[in-house]
Amino acid sequence: TAETPMLELSDVHTYYGHIHALKGLNMTVNPGEIVALIGGNGAGKTTTLRTISGMMKPKVGSVIYEGQNITGLPAHTIMQRGISHVPEGRRIFAQLSVRENLEVGAYTVTDRRVIEERVQEAFALFPRLKEREGQLGGTMSGGEQQMLAIARALMVNPRLLLLDEPSMGLSPLFVEAIFDIIERLNKERGTTILLVEQNASMALAIADRAYVLQTGEIRLSGPAEQIAQDESVRKAYLGDE
Ligand code: ATP
Repeated sequence: TAETPMLELSDVHTYYGHIHALKGLNMTVNPGEIVALIGGNGAGKTTTLRTISGMMKPKVGSVIYEGQNITGLPAHTIMQRGISHVPEGRRIFAQLSVRENLEVGAYTVTDRRVIEERVQEAFALFPRLKEREGQLGGTMSGGEQQMLAIARALMVNPRLLLLDEPSMGLSPLFVEAIFDIIERLNKERGTTILLVEQNASMALAIADRAYVLQTGEIRLSGPAEQIAQDESVRKAYLGDE
């Protein structure tokens, strides 16, 4: 279709000092899609999300969001444009309550009524957070903290949500719950999602399309079902012998 991509990375090169982490990435995310980014340790998945959300600046290449060049813009500006990033390791505020964590997430929103509306939306999506409104973030379980991290990222009402390994370290029941929420966000609210996952089989099961990264380059891309059937992917990331 002639649809404008929501996000387009062209020839993106990102470095950590001399380490060449992304080596000419080309990638698109279309409105309404769930796109999975899979790959082994150190492949550059986290760096890709950081480059999109403005935590890192690419040395070469461009990041175009909704037709506008956002390459190198400050992270808070990119967030105000509608991209929200849930980083690896769910950095919630341990000393703040669940509600306070949500309110902090809405720091770019000034209207109290809007903030309260969004807190209530978060509670509707995550009833467990409502039950624990006053509990300190640091005393929540790993799965609850991941829910809080996602709920906090939603406080700015993003059109594009970047999720970095949301299932990491969670029990199977929580993993299911988190993937369920991701699908609901996409289906019910139309939030576009770029999902980095070590759990490749779950990610491919909910994704429309996928990219396979290897040492900073795209090795493979296509419809998620097709990627899930690829023999090299099955061997490397889906635990097939
Ligand atoms: P993982 O699944 O292990 O988290 P990843 O695919 O997310 O891996 P990245 O974290 O993006 O990979 O790392 C890509 C490359 O950049 C790796 O070679 C890594 O060692 C390097 N790298 C990542 N963060 C830094 C840093 N802060 N300083 C230096 N090098 C880094």
